[in-house]
Amino acid sequence: MDDCLNKCGLLIVLSGPSGVGKDTVLKKLREKLPGMCLSVSMTTRSMRQGEVDGVNYIFTDFGDFEKKIGQGFFLEYAKYGTNYYGTPKATIESWLARGKVVFLKIEVQGAEKVRSEFAESVSVFLTTPTFADLICRLKARKSECEEDILRRVNIAKSEITRANEYDYIVINDEVERAAEDICAIVRAERLKYKNMKKYVDEVINNA
Ligand code: 5GP
Repeated sequence: MDDCLNKCGLLIVLSGPSGVGKDTVLKKLREKLPGMCLSVSMTTRSMRQGEVDGVNYIFTDFGDFEKKIGQGFFLEYAKYGTNYYGTPKATIESWLARGKVVFLKIEVQGAEKVRSEFAESVSVFLTTPTFADLICRLKARKSECEEDILRRVNIAKSEITRANEYDYIVINDEVERAAEDICAIVRAERLKYKNMKKYVDEVINNA
């Protein structure tokens, strides 16, 4: 059965407003799902303190990003604030072909694009218990200037109004519980008939 489960790739889109804790939840999730793959996006935004090129993002400039758009390099891309963010296509396709559980940590416009192109993808919207919590978290991480925080708060307001487009809503009030909720989603999705068909067929063929 594990063999069958391993053959079914699963694409999971994780969105949520800036500051909601997507990175922390994904880090916890890695402990629970050691085989999961997390896409490394390309961006034109500048590197934050502690970030590593090629690990957190592939950092590039506007010229290179726009050239890559023209070359069809991205599975999806979007402008968030004043910067571009995009998902490199080739890696995702190869992971899915190898049956991996693949996470894309992307904003709402990108999520819409993925949903329209990958009908089988599963989308999860991560949110804080209240909007005030989100503002506190954004301010507490001290990685943006006041102007950028304000821009992110405004984007967050419009992103939350699009939570209804997602398959699942997870509340990040506690990292452990949020990661466990996403883990439960992965388990349930993998057990859907369409993903278990090969296993069922094998049982029938050997009956
Ligand atoms: P940040 O600057 O805080 O790292 O990211 C800003 C927003 O861009 C976050 O909501 C993040 O999930 C999103 N993002 C990161 N990578 C991508 C990507 O490849 N595509 C899209 N559409 N959004 C992304």
